[in-house]
Amino acid sequence: MDKFVYLFHEGNGSMRDLLGGKGANLAEMTRIGLPVPFGFTITTQACNAYYDASKTIPTFVEEQTLEALTCLEDKMDKKLGDPNNPLLVSVRSGSVFSMPGMMDTILNLGMNDETVIGMAKLTNNPRFAYDSYRRFIQMFSNVVLEIDTFYFEQFLEETREEKGYSSDPELTSEDWQEVISGYKAIVKKHTRKEFPQDPKVQLFLAINAVFNSWNNQRAIVYRRLNKIPDHLGTAVNIQSMVFGNMGNDSGTGVAFTRNPSTGEHVLYGEYLINAQGEDVVAGIRTPQPIATLKDEMPGVFNQFSEICKHLEQHYQEMQDIEFTVERGKLFILQTRNGKRTAQAAIRIAVEMVKEGILDKKTALLRVDPDQLNQLLHSRIDDKFEKRILAKGLPASPGAATGQVVFDADEAESLSNDGKKVILVRPETTPDDIHGIVASQAIVTSRGGMTSHAAVVARGMGKACICGCEALKIDLRTKQFTVGETLVNYGDIITIDGSTGEIMLGEIPMIDPELSDEFQLLLAWADQERKIGVRANADNPEDAKKSFEFGAGGIGLCRTEHMFMDLKRIPIVQKMILADNYDERMEALDQLLPMQQGDFEGIFEAMQGFPVTIRLLDPPLHEFLPDKEELLVEVAKLQITDPQSFELKRQEQLLKKIRQLDEFNPMLGHRGCRLGMIYPEIYEMQAKAIFYAAAKLAEKGILVEPEIMIPLVGHVNELKHMRQLVISAAGKVQYETGRMFDYTIGTMIEIPRAALTADQIAEEADFFSFGTNDLTQTTFGYSRDDAEGKFLQAYIENKVLPENPFAVLDQEGVGKLVEMGVKLGRATKPALKTGICGEHGGEKSSIDFCYRMGLDYVSCSPYRVPLARLAAAQATIRHEVNKQEIFTTA
Ligand code: PEP
Ligand code: MG
Repeated sequence: MDKFVYLFHEGNGSMRDLLGGKGANLAEMTRIGLPVPFGFTITTQACNAYYDASKTIPTFVEEQTLEALTCLEDKMDKKLGDPNNPLLVSVRSGSVFSMPGMMDTILNLGMNDETVIGMAKLTNNPRFAYDSYRRFIQMFSNVVLEIDTFYFEQFLEETREEKGYSSDPELTSEDWQEVISGYKAIVKKHTRKEFPQDPKVQLFLAINAVFNSWNNQRAIVYRRLNKIPDHLGTAVNIQSMVFGNMGNDSGTGVAFTRNPSTGEHVLYGEYLINAQGEDVVAGIRTPQPIATLKDEMPGVFNQFSEICKHLEQHYQEMQDIEFTVERGKLFILQTRNGKRTAQAAIRIAVEMVKEGILDKKTALLRVDPDQLNQLLHSRIDDKFEKRILAKGLPASPGAATGQVVFDADEAESLSNDGKKVILVRPETTPDDIHGIVASQAIVTSRGGMTSHAAVVARGMGKACICGCEALKIDLRTKQFTVGETLVNYGDIITIDGSTGEIMLGEIPMIDPELSDEFQLLLAWADQERKIGVRANADNPEDAKKSFEFGAGGIGLCRTEHMFMDLKRIPIVQKMILADNYDERMEALDQLLPMQQGDFEGIFEAMQGFPVTIRLLDPPLHEFLPDKEELLVEVAKLQITDPQSFELKRQEQLLKKIRQLDEFNPMLGHRGCRLGMIYPEIYEMQAKAIFYAAAKLAEKGILVEPEIMIPLVGHVNELKHMRQLVISAAGKVQYETGRMFDYTIGTMIEIPRAALTADQIAEEADFFSFGTNDLTQTTFGYSRDDAEGKFLQAYIENKVLPENPFAVLDQEGVGKLVEMGVKLGRATKPALKTGICGEHGGEKSSIDFCYRMGLDYVSCSPYRVPLARLAAAQATIRHEVNKQEIFTTA
């Protein structure tokens, strides 16, 4: 019989798959001798067995659970349900990947009408015992019996009011007993049964509920967001209770071994005296910062600091630790790798290398490239005066502007309408997750740095301010006030999650800069990575940004973007509308110096690094006005001014647009097909590039332009275009008297090019995989239609694992890339290969490119830092198999 239940001392930290993250950590902490309340873990496999058995706990799981319970009872010298010496346990979920607040927890299980009396006697504290019992009824009723907490809260509130109390600590033991009777009546009313008194019945109902919570709505949404597979299941941890609410010598808290917002190496967290577990994270009472524990309980603080150091050394990772002090004795309830902002992740990784805890390679693997986007976002421009409306806790850095909303559903629906919103709430709960996802930022008036809102926002890289008590929120009228100032639903505010400041209106933002630690980490990444990183940049400004962000060249300069400039578009239109060659040449002659100027700027910005320039790609009608709008104009003029010259001009334009109209522009007259039919366009572009190269050579900057021909499907297309480019180069060299080197290559972006890459390589000095078009043509999807119509449903229904336009489809499109590289290199072993589709900035696709032996990836400028790190991670991850990778590529 398989083992489905493990006592804490039977497991260890490497058993995450089976015990879940929490269970594995509890086992590991027990193993290294930390003060962990004893318990056991029911495995994730048992959860799957539960679902296989149509949501019933199989007998073998039940038997093993009872056996483990007996061991726990022996060890604690207490018994579940024993009126004289009762064992009380917590029952918590724990999946393989951390899902904070997403699943359910039950505390104080084992409480009933008899054990509460025993507890009162044993602790000599009846008030505490009855308070614990009522907490248990409330939690159990909510999680297991599915009765809304609201009824219990309301009842408690009424009792408080009736007795003239303003807070819970004022309730006496007798008051709590009254509350318990009321709570039981609520249970009876909703379930038509008494509150279950048998602790074993309570236990198995709780286990059922935790298993069920794996599939509650918020857990499903969280998994989808974080790409956690549904089949993993959750473990259940059953642990003997310790109490932080036994008086002023007790307490409970959460602490990070380093600041999760900035990464600073200081103990960071908060606690509440005389409180129980969930009180700190629930955000209902605003807790004390951990530093004050030093004064309140110096002994406990010192012991805790030592344990934090020990845990960090042990896991070689920043830890997020939950602790409880029961009558002066410290217990560690949980540890896990702490979630952190990108800024903190970088600082921690770099400092842990300096402190000798990590080596550089491990440090590089510790930062998730996706997170870096956070740092490359704008921040508030200090130059502008900002009138601060209120200040709360800086819970998650970043700046955001948006309309105020007070409700998660509203946040979602406004954001679906394209609005930017900031969710403002007293506090958030896991049920608000969809609203948090939809918002630019979150603000809460209650709760601390480890409240739900703070933890979730940091995990998502969203700005968040918590505990902003100056905000008086009225959910009913959808308003908040700060002193005299009233802010209504829909008003615009700006927040700075790094300072905790809230401002009215929109405030200008500025571009990000890379911190010293970030630069250092990227420098380490550059030392490790064996694959180049270039940028897709179409103008000198983007080229400069790319250079600043560490791009080793430009992998794609889309020259059509230079045509879109407002001043140039009329000339481009003249070129397209020309009736004959001479007219077209006249327009092209005007365009040439403009393009040349851009190329000079780009070459200069890249300071001699390689620059790949792609000749014109899109169909010509993209440069002309919209057909339908023009039709309306023409119709209007026919009525208002039928004799006008303007009407004639518009009619001519319409005729040309109709001629250029295509049934399927994506597969129409574009790419090199334009160069084949209008060679003068490509010739002008090639000359502009070469004149720019000649000009830079005069300035002593050596550039070696890489001219790229788009959308080649047959080698003969490339053969023609190659000749055209060579001849243009010859003309420029002759005219200027300057010699320069250049290469000519092609995009591989339609399947036939990949399939015949051996022939195409005869005419190409390099290949660049244009995986945007290659994905479109391999799937037979037009991207705009697919993303607008059915792709989302495909992903939701798991027809496709991911959006193939964002994450490279390695099994399909990837096979063509692999074939392209292999066939191309069979013809030319030194053929340079790269990728310039959007996948060049996505971490798993970068890993694939590395394995395929590509020379570089190219992505948008702001993704360059991410790509440098992802490239290093790919190299480190596959280091052992490197030899093999390159020989098979
Ligand atoms: C591509 O197709 O991958 C590519 C980079 O070209 P574009 O996106 O401009 O079509
Ligand atoms: Mg393309």
